[in-house]
Amino acid sequence: MPELYDSIQTIRGIGEKKAQAFARLGVNTLYDLIAFFPRRYEDRTSSVSIAEAQDGQSVCITAVVADEPRLSRVRKGMELVKFKAVDESGVLDVTYFNQSWMKDHLSRGDEVTFFGKVEVTGRRRSMVNPVFDKAGSEKGVTGCIVPVYRLTSGLSQKTVLQSVRIGLECCASQMPDFLPDEVVARRKLARSAYAYENINCPKDFTALELARRRLIFEELFVLACALGKMRGDRTRESGCRFAIPPREEFLASLPFTPTNAQMRAIRDAEQDLSSGFCMSRLVQGDVGSGKTLVAAACAWIAVKNGKTVAFMAPTEILAEQHVQTLSSFLGPLGVRIGKLTGSMTAKEKRLTREAILRGELDVIVGTHALFTDGVEYPSLGLVITDEQHRFGVAQRSALIGKGERPHVLVMSATPIPRTLALIIYGDLDVSIIDELPPGRQKVDTFRVDSSYRARLNSFIVKQAAEGHQTFVVCPMVEENEESPLELKSAEEHARELQALLPELRVSCVHGKMKPKEKDALMAAFAAGEADVLVSTTVIEVGVDVPNATLMVIENAERFGLSQLHQLRGRVGRGKAKSWCILVSDADGEDVRSRLDILCKTNDGFRISEEDLRLRGPGDFFGSRQHGLPEMHAADLGANTDVLKAAKEEATLLLSEDPSLEAHPILRARIDRLFASGESTFN
Ligand code: ADP
Ligand code: MG
Repeated sequence: MPELYDSIQTIRGIGEKKAQAFARLGVNTLYDLIAFFPRRYEDRTSSVSIAEAQDGQSVCITAVVADEPRLSRVRKGMELVKFKAVDESGVLDVTYFNQSWMKDHLSRGDEVTFFGKVEVTGRRRSMVNPVFDKAGSEKGVTGCIVPVYRLTSGLSQKTVLQSVRIGLECCASQMPDFLPDEVVARRKLARSAYAYENINCPKDFTALELARRRLIFEELFVLACALGKMRGDRTRESGCRFAIPPREEFLASLPFTPTNAQMRAIRDAEQDLSSGFCMSRLVQGDVGSGKTLVAAACAWIAVKNGKTVAFMAPTEILAEQHVQTLSSFLGPLGVRIGKLTGSMTAKEKRLTREAILRGELDVIVGTHALFTDGVEYPSLGLVITDEQHRFGVAQRSALIGKGERPHVLVMSATPIPRTLALIIYGDLDVSIIDELPPGRQKVDTFRVDSSYRARLNSFIVKQAAEGHQTFVVCPMVEENEESPLELKSAEEHARELQALLPELRVSCVHGKMKPKEKDALMAAFAAGEADVLVSTTVIEVGVDVPNATLMVIENAERFGLSQLHQLRGRVGRGKAKSWCILVSDADGEDVRSRLDILCKTNDGFRISEEDLRLRGPGDFFGSRQHGLPEMHAADLGANTDVLKAAKEEATLLLSEDPSLEAHPILRARIDRLFASGESTFN
């Protein structure tokens, strides 16, 4: 008997070649196989008489073969088998292409149930290549619900279904049940064996629905348990208990007064840091809400306690910006700040590494180079990561493992709907900064089409004349992409703009550049050395250029709402009035009303709710940036109520059995959940 997590090759009928094909679908173990749910189902349950059959309908028809099937060769490589079938209501013409064996397989007088698409021309009814079951033999392909699986080369529907059936047989006596009995009873769910059987080979639609409901619940429950356990493991881990220094000293060094929301987040963190347990806190707040200040406050506390702090940013330019901000906040307090990024020379890196080792730096800001290249930290007390949605759950826990149980603070500027947050941040405590620093103005947003081009260009010139700067964002253009709308690459657009506005300094950053080149141009723009920066979405991540007052987004229809909101957040960071112009020639009411949401509100949370509603969770972060395992049954956006219930049950279970000792099957599943995820930083 193969075990649940044995390779599928241990199952009879699956050799190396099939196993390789399955692996391409992400199916490696016996469990993967039975959890490889159909993509959709074909309903072959409805049965009609010949006369009732409508044109274009796919139905079952039971009839008697009325004449001997005839084989004819139309031309080379094209053979037809034709015959008539009748029931009491009418006649059906049946044709098979290139299946000459059908001639001998059926004969006059056979009672057969066909399933296929009906064609009606005049009074004739016909079917081409229908599948069928003969009366008296076991029903295989008609009268039932047939699963349709995702395929890859080397696998047919039939092979997959057969393999799944064998997989189910193998598990029959030991069907894994990840849900505790009480939960199954309380939530009125189907049993595990029933669910796995009926999701693959449903008896009827009621059974399918019951199976689906159970499996969605199960999947979300397992995920919630996994994340809850991660968090529990950490919060029960004793961490370094920090003494909290008097806040006044830190606050006095700031050029402004923190907002109430910032103070709340700082107090949350202070409690964590002084609790004696490890902090795992997320600070979530819209772009420009001032998250860096909270990070600085935590760093200050750690340094006062004699610890080293690692501060990780997703890009070099952001790392540089954080170095400057932290230097201005903490430099006057005597905190020594260093930088470690991938683009530094080998020698610079070595010198920095040595300085860290000798304890000459208190806060080291950098990219993921901070945790590669064999860097060692003498007493790492706090790890801060910025813009964490770019890192993901698995990476986050990998990172935490580097230190000697350091405290962890993550910052995210991606407002996400509560329902998703519940899962994605299930392993973190959350502080929300829901207030912008005072004096910040709303960014006025307008949607225009290219007939406004001339006016838009003079608006850009006007900004420059007033000493301000403009971002222009173009969508990434895929090669060979065919689009009904004219799509210009960032480079093309920059060239045209420069030709039209020769008095301005237009620079351009795009995806094909080396990171070093990109960063240099971004830094030059931030330093005011260009009036206009044309780019693809590389500027999406939190670059601070308070002097930029205009954001122009070309082909705005190509972006998701949350992404547009993020882009808009790049302006309106200084005192001057700022604008965002969405340029789109796409017609269609839905595109317009989608973009108008942005014109109406600046509330990131509302926008993200709309975005989720409109696009579904699959697209929400682009290509699986949230780092969660792929969902098989559940839909994180749609199954909100189930998600809540699953989370409640997970919390309850973990409170009774924190390490899941009494639930070994569930525990084994959880241990594997993130094991297959990529572990590289993106
Ligand atoms: P984000 O949350 O996007 O990371 P930042 O931390 O970069 O935001 O802050 C955005 C800008 O607001 C920075 O220029 C910062 O100096 C400024 N800022 C932060 N907090 C305050 C405050 N309480 N009052 C005034 N300005 C602030
Ligand atoms: Mg930031």
